Amino acid sequence: MPWILKKECIACKKCVKRCPADAISMSKGKAVIDDHMCIYCGKCVKVCPVHAVLKDKEKVELDVETNIRSFRKKMKKHKGPAPKSRMLKGELKLLERQKKIIQGTIKELRRF
Ligand code: SF4
Ligand code: SF4
Repeated sequence: MPWILKKECIACKKCVKRCPADAISMSKGKAVIDDHMCIYCGKCVKVCPVHAVLKDKEKVELDVETNIRSFRKKMKKHKGPAPKSRMLKGELKLLERQKKIIQGTIKELRRF
């Protein structure tokens, strides 16, 4: 599944023309992928001249970095080791819950 980094998109529309599934359109001067139309061919990744279309793996790495940065920011607001440790536990619980929801959804979808 490709992802578009909006801030990098220069609106050249090459990906729109190249997409065989009509899954990409322009919105507010940026390319947007319709997840429901995409057939995961990867042509948009190859055609983009400014590397604004990311592969799944790249997007995952980027999101992990963003999450860690945001968590570090939150941690800075809490003074002392005890609140920080509680916060970390809370964050991990939240992520575990989200993981279970996603895993449960994937399991059910695989039965379709
Ligand atoms: S991966 Fe293929 S189908 Fe999906 S948006 Fe890119 S060009 Fe279109
Ligand atoms: S090819 Fe890249 S720069 Fe051009 S419209 Fe698509 S995402 Fe934007």
